[in-house]
Amino acid sequence: MSTGNATSYDKKSVKDVEVKGKKVLLRCDFNVPLDKETGEITDEGRIVAALPTINYLLEQGAAVIACSHFGRPKGEFRSEFSLAPVAVCLAKHLGKPVKMAKDVIGSDAVSLAKGLQPGEIMLIENTRFHKEEEKNDPEFAKKLADMADIFVSDAFGSVHRAHASTEGVSHYLPAVSGFLLKKELDHIGGAISAPKRPLVAILGGAKVSDKLGVINNLMKIADSIIIGGGMAYTFFKAQGGRIGNSLCEDNEIENVLKMLENAKTRGVKLLLPVDSIAGSEFSNNTEPKTVLSNEIPDGMMALDIGPKAVEAFVNEIIAAKTVVWNGPMGVFEFSKFAEGTKAVANAVAQSHAISIIGGGDSAAAVRKFGLEDKITHISTGGGASLEFMEGKILPGIACLLDA
Ligand code: AMP
Repeated sequence: MSTGNATSYDKKSVKDVEVKGKKVLLRCDFNVPLDKETGEITDEGRIVAALPTINYLLEQGAAVIACSHFGRPKGEFRSEFSLAPVAVCLAKHLGKPVKMAKDVIGSDAVSLAKGLQPGEIMLIENTRFHKEEEKNDPEFAKKLADMADIFVSDAFGSVHRAHASTEGVSHYLPAVSGFLLKKELDHIGGAISAPKRPLVAILGGAKVSDKLGVINNLMKIADSIIIGGGMAYTFFKAQGGRIGNSLCEDNEIENVLKMLENAKTRGVKLLLPVDSIAGSEFSNNTEPKTVLSNEIPDGMMALDIGPKAVEAFVNEIIAAKTVVWNGPMGVFEFSKFAEGTKAVANAVAQSHAISIIGGGDSAAAVRKFGLEDKITHISTGGGASLEFMEGKILPGIACLLDA
């Protein structure tokens, strides 16, 4: 029904459609962590994050049929992957009952959905109880869609996947974003399509191969690219440096050389960490030593960026008007090698730039240092935000109605 412009991030949201008296299929991200022994939810963050969209829909007089995937039940009904504990938690936060269906598209879900009144909410079972979910099977998607009049997508962490509950249903229902997804679209979409300049991209983490796509896309958009973390050392090796036992992906050397060339041609400033903090083993017990990043002694490995690198990176970040950051500068999980990541996190927090942090480890680092309140936007989707910044078409966004 609704296939929107694949490359536009300007999409209709719940506020742009009439939901009163309508049945709304709401795709949430209720993939919450459970205590393995007690089965209790150990972090309710994702459920709490879904409340604004749910409350808005209920207040507007919609009947909400919520759905989500949960873990990897591999296409089978398995009680340990039931969303029932989520329904209990959701009801607690909403202060009203959440009707829990015993199935996904079976007779229980269908009859509950049929009887659902405006202002009421139900939750269907884990969409991944059917293997058709991940295959984006059209018949399965139609059955999901048949329960509702409108599809609202609010699970950013899943929009890079073309599954029945993230994309398939949009072929049968008008599809719009919820508030959580809209926030991601506005912030990440805004930063990559119309950034305030200078735009400084900070990329780190272990592997260059994971970030090649992002670096190549940001090369077309950013004014400067800062590269730190384990991935930096492939760049030093590519340029003939000695990197000891530091992380290196030899099969990416050609790509890295192309990237360096590309940056020159495009006039993009590419900053690598001139110095590093190295240790003799991958451990917090090793003695840290400051070394030049292209002269790392044999038997040592770089585990963090050094003080000169920090100074250069911080100066660049402070002058930015937009910062996007994905990946730590070092092994920040080890206290002795966390300083580089901490300094970069502080600079991002203190800058007056619009700051956007991809999910995953950089988000964890910002939280660890207690800086999350000073960041414009911390994405809820690690993989999705990376693919977004790579400029890929994300099926769960492309399928939404254009604004
Ligand atoms: P990624 O998932 O690719 O963003 O990588 C994140 C991981 O990279 C974190 O767990 C860091 O500990 C690790 N990391 C960052 N810098 C280094 C480094 N210099 N050597 C080894 N691992 C690193």
